[in-house]
Amino acid sequence: MNLPIYMDNHSTTQVDPRVVEEMIPYFTAHFGNAASRNHSFGWDADKAVEVGRERLAKIIHADPKEIIFTSGATESNNLALKGVVEMYAEKGNHIITQVTEHRSVLDTSKRLEKSGINVTYLPVDRDGLVDPEDVRDAITDRTVLISVMLVNNEIGVIQPVEEIGKIAKEKGVLFHCDATQGIGKVKVDVQSMGIDLLSFTAHKLYGPKGTGALYVRRKSPRVRLAPMMDGGGHERGMRSGTLNVPGIVGFGKACEIAMEVMEEESARLLYLRERLRKGMMDSLESVYLNGHPTRRMPGNLNLSFAYVEGESMLMGLKEIALSSGSACTSATLEPSYVLQALGISGELAHSSVRFGLGRFNTEEEVDYVIGRVIETVNRLREMSPLYEMVKEGINLKDVTWGKH
Ligand SMILES: *Cc1c(COP(=O)(O)O)cnc(C)c1O
Repeated sequence: MNLPIYMDNHSTTQVDPRVVEEMIPYFTAHFGNAASRNHSFGWDADKAVEVGRERLAKIIHADPKEIIFTSGATESNNLALKGVVEMYAEKGNHIITQVTEHRSVLDTSKRLEKSGINVTYLPVDRDGLVDPEDVRDAITDRTVLISVMLVNNEIGVIQPVEEIGKIAKEKGVLFHCDATQGIGKVKVDVQSMGIDLLSFTAHKLYGPKGTGALYVRRKSPRVRLAPMMDGGGHERGMRSGTLNVPGIVGFGKACEIAMEVMEEESARLLYLRERLRKGMMDSLESVYLNGHPTRRMPGNLNLSFAYVEGESMLMGLKEIALSSGSACTSATLEPSYVLQALGISGELAHSSVRFGLGRFNTEEEVDYVIGRVIETVNRLREMSPLYEMVKEGINLKDVTWGKH
């Protein structure tokens, strides 16, 4: 087993060697611009792009013509929200999203609010799930878009996208889904899920960074988008700019591999996750699972270790790459807005750690992590006066703290 161990696969993933291999010729022999119409360099590049487009379309059950290449899911989310709002301005000025979306949806929504758009941010329940009936109730005759993610990037919960899609169709409102964390991990079908726009990115599924896509429905309804980028009119005029050919080749290969291995890989990751969870929870008390216990993607485990700061844990676990539920924003340590939206206290949010298992993690690594986490949590708790009091049977809620 090699150190350090990478267990932060929701942040990004290692590029699969089969993906790298397929990309390399597109930096060297086939370096052409896919928009060059007059020579074989351009034709070769264009052919490779179209193979990539087909593979992306296949994994979400779309038509290749409905795939628009972008620089990543951040751009795809920006294009979906801003593009729809601008294009459908005459129809309305209201969009619906929810509080645990990725920053690229929430911050885009905030910017739209500044330009006079009304945004409804739906709450989630204790498990992190949106109630589809809340979506229905929020729709008005001015609503132009609903944006709800498929899989949450912190707690891994799977939103009831199919139900929301049905409601959107019934009401004639466009439905955008940020499926970045779900593609290649859970089944996605834009037809049965009633999705009109869908964002995803290569680097979360063992492909390269800097290549993303937006699915834009062409039929029933035909979705129109105002472009964010003016230029050569690439990608049906929705996204100008020379295509990242090697990136697209890699993205396509990553999708092809994901489709092949998804079932087997999901079962393996679920086994590893449950081994990891039980291993830690059986030896440590006061450990809490964040997010729905079963409606979550296989590789995600988000736990709060009471009386211990997540950040301190990570500092004690330097040879393991993990994420804590606190975002280091300059001077202050903000507890995760996702965990807070679930009604989890600031303290427990600060105590959270996200384990992101992926294709290249092994059982040996999982067992090593279990041992090191137990050791570190026990050591930190021994130094915690609060934990001492709890062990002595004092209920912290009954304590009146002195003022200093
Ligand atoms: C990573 C991520 C994004 C951003 O993707 P980039 O390609 O890095 O811009 C958007 N949404 C979710 C849910 C993500 O996990």
